[in-house]
Amino acid sequence: MILQDIADGVTRGVETTLATVSEAFFEPAIRLGVTGLSRAGKTVFITSLVANLINRGRMPQLVASANGSIRTAYLQPQPDDTVPRFDYETHLAALTGPDPHWPDSTRSVSELRLSLRVQPSGLLSGLTGPRTVHLDIVDYPGEWLLDLGLLDKSYADWSAETLRRAEPRPQAAAFRAALDGISGDAGLDEPLAKALTAAFTGYLTGARAAGFSDCTPGRFLLPGDLAGSPVLTFAPLPQPSRTPRGSIWREFERRFEAYKRSVVKPFFRDHFSRIDRQVVLVDVLGAIHAGPPAVEDLRVAMADILGAFRPGRNAFLSQLLLGKRVERILFAATKADHLHHGQHARLAAITEALLADAKSRADFSGAVTQAMAIAALRATTEDTISHEGRMLDVVRGRIEGSDKRAAFYPGELPEDPAKLLSPARQGAETWLGADYSVMNFAPHPLDLKPGEGPPHIRLDRAAQFLIGDRL
Ligand code: GDP
Repeated sequence: MILQDIADGVTRGVETTLATVSEAFFEPAIRLGVTGLSRAGKTVFITSLVANLINRGRMPQLVASANGSIRTAYLQPQPDDTVPRFDYETHLAALTGPDPHWPDSTRSVSELRLSLRVQPSGLLSGLTGPRTVHLDIVDYPGEWLLDLGLLDKSYADWSAETLRRAEPRPQAAAFRAALDGISGDAGLDEPLAKALTAAFTGYLTGARAAGFSDCTPGRFLLPGDLAGSPVLTFAPLPQPSRTPRGSIWREFERRFEAYKRSVVKPFFRDHFSRIDRQVVLVDVLGAIHAGPPAVEDLRVAMADILGAFRPGRNAFLSQLLLGKRVERILFAATKADHLHHGQHARLAAITEALLADAKSRADFSGAVTQAMAIAALRATTEDTISHEGRMLDVVRGRIEGSDKRAAFYPGELPEDPAKLLSPARQGAETWLGADYSVMNFAPHPLDLKPGEGPPHIRLDRAAQFLIGDRL
């Protein structure tokens, strides 16, 4: 009996290996990670990318689409049975239905497999038949990447740093009040732990809404099914001189370590370490609108996020990756449809400059990188109007939450990115002599012709950079 079991086990092992080998040889899979901070545009990006790969009429810059190599593209069951499926159909219906609206945002990790039948063109076309390339898209919150930095920190370090950053911020007022009179050496009392966590989470949420990005631990903002569990019930505390057993400090310290071990590490092991290509979406326009502190904070957060793509930096990650690396990383400034196309190059340059620091420190271990301004779903049209005696390049769209359409001028981005980034670094509170605004446009009702995906800006170039070489 036991022998039989072992024999079975061995055969299955061989079969599985063979299946994996044959898949790797004949049906290559590309794992594309899509990340970015909350509201950066991940859900809209994936939905529109998939819709535009299935109906490729608007993808002229994706070479394999333009030359007809991609014969068909279709959704298939994903390879990982325990990861939630990206809810493509619901999100697409939201964007392209009769009453178009923005879909619900990413809250956790999810996955979708799109399979492409590709017939090589040119010299090779007669020699080989069509082959299948699987594109496994993995969507995950950028906040979770910030948690990588926690692995190197003790609870004491993290507490000190977090409290220092919170000190000047008005969003932390209630949390500071909740800490008042609390001593870490007192015995743990669960209702108090919960109240402190709620106040701390309130601060993180407020800071995030005000445009700050350094809001670890990432799961406090996007808890998924861990909401309310002890591993998410702690907060930073001022360090007391003694930390007896059973004290709040000791228990929070233990939970902080459990968070690293049971939440942060499994994510990197199960998802992050398997990614081949990565797109990092960044709401640069949103940060510019929120003001210089938000731009500076975004810069710092992006440097932290991108640290995850520099495996040498972190011992745990180096060991996990064992030399495997992300081959291509695209940094995409999203929602470029808020700007007339005359300003897109400036937005891309600002994005590039915003990441320059992180890029020069990392060389991303040989990964090819590029910065681009895109709109996954174009919600506006362009126009030039005369205003107070001068011509303005504007965009027009339907204002979210109303039936009204409006022309909108977001302000003029400088040609030299330093004009924005330097004051942000120097701690300016407002932009001098410039005013940037954003407007929430709703998606257009669409009248798509057969074979056409939803309208976008440069999604085809993004796809070419990310997967074009593998098609
Ligand atoms: P996620 O949190 O990263 O998944 O972000 P979403 O994909 O849900 O996008 C957040 C919000 O950004 C949406 O609800 C839209 O308001 C806006 N948005 C995202 N992509 C675009 C775009 O291509 N154009 C415009 N105009 N707005 C966008």
